[in-house]
Amino acid sequence: MSILLEETAPRDGLQNETRLLPVAEKIRLIEDLVACGFQRIQVGSFVNPRAVPQMADTEEVLRRLHKKPGVIYRALILNERGLERALGCGVTHVGVFVSASETHSRKNSGCDVEEGLRRACTVVRKAKAAGLSAQAGVMNAFGCRFEGRVPEDRVFSLAASLAEAGADELCFADTSGLANPLQTERIVGEALRIFSLPLGLHLHDTFGFGLANVYAAWKLGLSRFDGACGGLGGCPFIPGAPGNIPSEDLVHLFHAMGVPTGIDLEKLIGVRHFLEATFQRSLPGRYGRSP
Ligand code: ZN
Repeated sequence: MSILLEETAPRDGLQNETRLLPVAEKIRLIEDLVACGFQRIQVGSFVNPRAVPQMADTEEVLRRLHKKPGVIYRALILNERGLERALGCGVTHVGVFVSASETHSRKNSGCDVEEGLRRACTVVRKAKAAGLSAQAGVMNAFGCRFEGRVPEDRVFSLAASLAEAGADELCFADTSGLANPLQTERIVGEALRIFSLPLGLHLHDTFGFGLANVYAAWKLGLSRFDGACGGLGGCPFIPGAPGNIPSEDLVHLFHAMGVPTGIDLEKLIGVRHFLEATFQRSLPGRYGRSP
């Protein structure tokens, strides 16, 4: 099965940077990532601009972007207001997430898990009714920085509700970066047994277990993974949370195992250099790092 990578640096990456990237630079970043071969890319989110000022100009980014046919440009939304904004600028693919942790849900979405789920299901239903494709997912599916263990039956029950609401695919997010390979094997194995929808993983690399978790899931047949160029980003509502798995390391892992990804690794390193120059720091990605 071919690997389907979703690049999240323009959304998950930038939202954790204090420096706001101007629209023109965001567009350059997105177009450069598409030129690397990514078929799926998260371009921004429609959330409260006071809470996440880095994403305040997502409408403008989407309007000015030269979209390549066949590429999925995804925007993340939390509620109906976000969906209206997405529909207003021609978004065709949305991501809708609910947190499995009460504390994180209140910090991230301003409501408890039950209300978060109600909002997410409403958004999925309305997005589908408007003809959009909806990826839905569960944040902190592998544990929570604030609460520790998250019951797995709660994770599956949230995912089941999102599937029932009409989601086209499901994503399990290790927002806090607490997953380990055996746990990944257990959760992914169970999810593959329960759900007939395509499943993906969104993994943060807090303790450097990201690629080991990817390998555990891939061995079970999972082929959809998120990454962020350079490992940029984190979660603004989880202090100290590092970014996603660096996309270049994810690509390099599969290429080293002889599994094609469709991504031009050298071009991707060029994008990382652009990000490092922009944010004036070296990023955690290992492949192609300057000696
Ligand atoms: Zn994330």
